[in-house]
Amino acid sequence: MEQRYRLGDVLISRGEIAKKTAELAAKVAADTPQDADGNRELIVVGILTGAVFFLTDLVRELPEDMDVRVDFMSVSSYGNETKSSGVVRIFHDLKTNIEGRNVLVVEDIVDTGRTFAYLLELLQSRNPASLRTCVLLDKSARRETEVRVDYCGFNIPDAFVVGCGLDCAGMWRHLKDIRTVRTQS
Ligand code: 5GP
Repeated sequence: MEQRYRLGDVLISRGEIAKKTAELAAKVAADTPQDADGNRELIVVGILTGAVFFLTDLVRELPEDMDVRVDFMSVSSYGNETKSSGVVRIFHDLKTNIEGRNVLVVEDIVDTGRTFAYLLELLQSRNPASLRTCVLLDKSARRETEVRVDYCGFNIPDAFVVGCGLDCAGMWRHLKDIRTVRTQS
């Protein structure tokens, strides 16, 4: 039988997200080291597609005197719409050489951690000067693989959520609030 999805309650409001995003950006900026010329360079790596929405808000909260560059990777974790399998395929790689540079990886959500762990291992093998991670949402209770989360927006319970870049069957990425999803058969 075909499963239909309906929007559920607001879990995190747009106002809370905006406030938290500004706080995270301030921490990221404060932790970014200066080079010999006093510049603070940061390569911000977004994981397509979900992280784009959070990333664009986050980088625009960084101080204008920082040397901020943005690049993207596209990966797919095989699985169905609500559960990742841990097998990751890279569709689009970075254009930037990150060797010797300060990198911040931005992701929308970390669930089991499998996708993120795989990506971080790959990026670490390219020898960045530093590799930090920033996620909007963390379902830490569901973690199956240890992953490093340096900056976390919100720890959330085990519920499937949409909005702020997160989709359900391709829908609802554009929602400003984070909302739960209900299924009906
Ligand atoms: P992990 O490998 O950490 O289990 O899965 C991470 C990926 O699963 C995320 O990048 C996201 O695509 C998807 N995912 C996990 N939980 C949710 C959720 O609550 N909502 C949505 N839309 N995607 C989720």
